[in-house]
Amino acid sequence: MQVILADYLGFCYGVKRAIKIARENASPDGDANTLGPIIHNPQMVERLKSEGVGTVDHVEDMEQGTIIVRSHGVGPEIYEHAEKRGLRLVDATCPHVRKAQLSAKELHDDGYRVVIVGEKEHPEVQSIYEWSGREAFTIESEAEAEQVEHCAKLGIVSQTTFSGEHFERIVGRLLSKSRDIRILRTICTATDQRQAAAQALARQVDLMLVVGGKNSANTTRLAQLCAQYCKTYHIETAAELQDEWFANIEKIGITAGASTPDWIIKEVYKKCQQKK
Ligand code: SF4
Repeated sequence: MQVILADYLGFCYGVKRAIKIARENASPDGDANTLGPIIHNPQMVERLKSEGVGTVDHVEDMEQGTIIVRSHGVGPEIYEHAEKRGLRLVDATCPHVRKAQLSAKELHDDGYRVVIVGEKEHPEVQSIYEWSGREAFTIESEAEAEQVEHCAKLGIVSQTTFSGEHFERIVGRLLSKSRDIRILRTICTATDQRQAAAQALARQVDLMLVVGGKNSANTTRLAQLCAQYCKTYHIETAAELQDEWFANIEKIGITAGASTPDWIIKEVYKKCQQKK
């Protein structure tokens, strides 16, 4: 049995940066917290907690200390709330997400009707929405694109982790909605690279294991893409591997979302090798 790792997998630049910033601001007194889990990976969240970086759900949950904005970013109001409460805000928003937020703001300020192509419930999309003056439409399917009304000026931005192909298809449906359309393709290369590498690998193996948080949008998307080509399982850790998955399998491919720590990928890789 051959076990092959995707050419690009695991932590992206923005996640590595956010974790480094969080660690630099850890506090043994428990007064350093990220606003929401630092990444969509419960194992990493637990590890950081043991190192002195906890998690709060709202700015109001803190009376003092340091609040760390994660790579997904937040809306402008959060910066104001934190300042009013006297909290020290450390901003670990990924620069690519920041670019998407500022693109939405710029389009809105220039009088464009903003459409965000992305998952409505995703925190990053919500942060982009906040920067759009809270007036953007968020759509994630071609059917929803058809519902967008005609307007004088239409500006399009994307969730950074959205599938490039899917984005192009949705944009295709929006082209007839206005005579003045600006498209700001704010998908980051980390996502494109991981998706392309995962699909290339899925085409040549019998089984794909996609490693990462079940609550991670980009990991879930990788699993959906791989499932088009071969049997695919989305797992969070090596403990979920089932012996029966490996029956009559010659080649196994492994990929992992941008929020999956290296140590978890290594454990899955090692365990697969032991199935030989
Ligand atoms: S996937 Fe891209 S945009 Fe998102 S955190 Fe990573 S580098 Fe930043």
